[in-house]
Amino acid sequence: MEYDAGRGWHSARIQPYAPFTLDPAAMVLHYAQEIFEGLKAFRREDGSVVLFRPADNVARFNRSARRMCMPEVDEEFFLDAIRQLVRLEERWVPRSHGTSLYIRPTMIASEPMLGVRPADSYLCYVILSPVGAYYKGGIAPVKIWISDFYVRAAHGGTGEVKTGGNYAASLYAAREAAERGYDQVLWLDAKHKRYVEEVGSMNMCFVFDGKLVTSPLHGTILDGITRRSILTLAREMGLEVEERALTVDEIFEGVESGRLTEAFGTGTAVVVSPVGQFTYQGKTVRLGDGETPGEITRKLYDTLTGIQYGRLPDPHGWVVAV
Ligand code: PMP
Repeated sequence: MEYDAGRGWHSARIQPYAPFTLDPAAMVLHYAQEIFEGLKAFRREDGSVVLFRPADNVARFNRSARRMCMPEVDEEFFLDAIRQLVRLEERWVPRSHGTSLYIRPTMIASEPMLGVRPADSYLCYVILSPVGAYYKGGIAPVKIWISDFYVRAAHGGTGEVKTGGNYAASLYAAREAAERGYDQVLWLDAKHKRYVEEVGSMNMCFVFDGKLVTSPLHGTILDGITRRSILTLAREMGLEVEERALTVDEIFEGVESGRLTEAFGTGTAVVVSPVGQFTYQGKTVRLGDGETPGEITRKLYDTLTGIQYGRLPDPHGWVVAV
């Protein structure tokens, strides 16, 4: 669908996937006025297709839109459009455990204009892509590199917004980490370079002193929908949840003293990703043998995927039929 100042959203339609034309001066190409979302459709064991907490994604899309001076969408209309699209393409929702149909709503500034200001016209579209199982041979821990130099987001910036610029800013450090054999970069806060923020496309959780500790939402990290779900499930499992930023020192001292027993990332792509080791300034700590996911990590993964794929009941109504 398209937006023009004075006219609002118009021309909503579903059409076959194809390239579209954009004016070379479209403002998104120069000033990165862009937002997106990521959610999944799952095929449950009974064959039905469901979405996971899609209203949360649509609400976050609108929060991103506000911060990026972009027009909001009608949440009910947008959610219904996503459902209609997935229903039409239901055959692409794969069957086996861990597979899904990834849904990517996007909004870009399409007005042709050389000059920095919010655009007057926008294009909003949703594309789909089937995705294979993230873990082929069971969930496997990742190696994380903690950057002591690069930062992803500062207070007052756009860290909590799902906008392309944040990801562009993270590429250089991610490539450096990959060249050194690490899977992900863990970002520290921009001010003190001390407190854990988040990882690439995941929020971070730690089992510290038997409690689930995760970084608070204060504008620099994404309010992850998997994070929200995991915090609820952890509380239901009887774990105390603490929203506070762990320091790098706490990670290293915690692992060495046995106070930090598990660490994992949470995100739509992986659901739960156990961490096997952290490296910071040339020093490495391993969690357990670095190869086996912790007990709490595995239980949270099994519970959340169980709800998504229909093996377990869904008491919170997170799963929505398409
Ligand atoms: N942080 C960032 C920077 C991300 O891109 C993502 C993925 N959307 C997450 C955290 C996790 O968010 P969610 O659980 O909603 O996928």
